[in-house]
Amino acid sequence: MDRRDFLKKTTVAAAAGAGLAAAPAIARSTIKWKMVTTWPKNFPGLGTGANNLARLITEMSGGRLKVKVYGAKELIPAFEVFDAVSRGTAEMGHSSAYYWKGKVPEAQFFSTMPFGMAADEMNGWIYYGGGQKLWDEVYAPFGVLGRPAGNTGVQMGGWFNKEINSLEDLKGLKMRIPGLGGEVLKRLGGTPVNLPGGELFTALTSGTIDATEWVGPYNDLAFGLYKAAKYYYYPGFHEPGTILEALINKKAFEALPKDLQSIVLNACKVVNMEMLAEYSARNPGALEQLVKEHHVEVRAYPDDVLGQLRKVSAEVAQELAGQNAAAKKIYESYRSFLEASRKWTKISELAYLEARDGKR
Ligand code: CA
Repeated sequence: MDRRDFLKKTTVAAAAGAGLAAAPAIARSTIKWKMVTTWPKNFPGLGTGANNLARLITEMSGGRLKVKVYGAKELIPAFEVFDAVSRGTAEMGHSSAYYWKGKVPEAQFFSTMPFGMAADEMNGWIYYGGGQKLWDEVYAPFGVLGRPAGNTGVQMGGWFNKEINSLEDLKGLKMRIPGLGGEVLKRLGGTPVNLPGGELFTALTSGTIDATEWVGPYNDLAFGLYKAAKYYYYPGFHEPGTILEALINKKAFEALPKDLQSIVLNACKVVNMEMLAEYSARNPGALEQLVKEHHVEVRAYPDDVLGQLRKVSAEVAQELAGQNAAAKKIYESYRSFLEASRKWTKISELAYLEARDGKR
């Protein structure tokens, strides 16, 4: 080996050595994020969805970005998630946008709308129909990014201790029901209240509320709501495909290298898909358990009650659109996507499901 070859080889060896030596430096620069959530820690579907999101980001980044999840009340109360992410107390949050209606009324479009889009349609609108851009505009003044990170699918109408046979039965009813669904109940003479999920069982058994909705069989079984109410009504007209959102502090996000940014955003997409799949898998068995083991009476809302709920829901959505320019713009985008989707769904999903059930 001549001197030139020797030098070349030792330079390569030194470079390789330097590469190895650099590894501890990467470990030292691990970024730690907090994720605050609206859910009880580890609550099936919602809380475990937040856990999955944190785990995926940590795993996909090889531990360079570690995310630690906090359940409701561990760091901050359930309904302060948005504020906590906005001011940077936590870099991430997991919640749903309708909880911020007091601060940002138009955020509700990115959660769910009564008689609005189902899960597939919401994903279509957000990812390919201009929804995400509008969402970014709404949260920009707060220094927050919102991304879909879970979907419950169609929810159940709720738990009641009396039958709902007519609109009269909704009058004077004190019910936990969030978002615009609550506003619809109010117009029909009821009293909507919002409570974090963890407080529903006690509120219903103590008589603080007369009725409640939560999510669907899988989640409602977990909270034991069947012990507090007898009738389980469907469909959840007020939440036809609720998006659970990941909230990300914009400054913290922009400080990340591009690969970690991509990991965070794509982990949200994975969880968005996985959570819906989990609900599809778990709801049927949970429903059977509620009926067979706990003797829950499953009832459909009467057609005329649904008709009135639909009418009032349309009015409430229009009024929301009239609140400010942003709400109007989002409403128009949402509405035009839904109208186009309705025509397609009618001859695809709807026609197929009817055919599958022998109804045509
Ligand atoms: Ca709900």
